[in-house]
Amino acid sequence: MIFAEPIARLIEELTKLPGVGPKTAQRLAFHVLKAPADDVRKLARALIEAKDKVRYCSICGNITDIDPCRICSGSDRDRGLLCVVEEPRDVIAMERTKEFKGLYHVLNGVISPMEGVGPDDIRIKELLARIRDGGVKEVILATNPNIEGEATAMYISRLLKPLGVRVTRIAHGVPVGGELEYADEVTLARALEGRREV
Ligand SMILES: [Zn+2]
Repeated sequence: MIFAEPIARLIEELTKLPGVGPKTAQRLAFHVLKAPADDVRKLARALIEAKDKVRYCSICGNITDIDPCRICSGSDRDRGLLCVVEEPRDVIAMERTKEFKGLYHVLNGVISPMEGVGPDDIRIKELLARIRDGGVKEVILATNPNIEGEATAMYISRLLKPLGVRVTRIAHGVPVGGELEYADEVTLARALEGRREV
């Protein structure tokens, strides 16, 4: 064993984080050892609090510390406009554009037969229920412009059409095969502007 047991355990846990390989984990672990004890305690507390206090909004499925979330309960939002995204991080990307003033619906995933994810595994039922409740005039499908995202958008659009709601898809200012999260604000704002009927 090269590392003392507690360090080995820290490295092992850090390696579970996305984008963190063994080398980065080792670098982070040694950084933690050198950092002031107070900073390390703050980091540990922030990790636990984020996990304990953040939950999913019962309306839109976004992550929030209050339910309904600030967007769903906001008085300045256009309730006739609903933007459907894959993940909470896509809501953050859309909000950053400052172009969208409607509400969101987070699917918390995407249909992917390859990974065994079917329509019932993501929040499509909840979306249909929201549309049936009335008030929504347009649904903007803002799933990622890759194979799974397109297939999911098509699937949802077929379900929504009979409900008499306008269904649009964001334009591909977002690079094909790309992810919303990594698109800059201008590209994403343009994609939103150029959305089309599906
Ligand atoms: Zn919400």
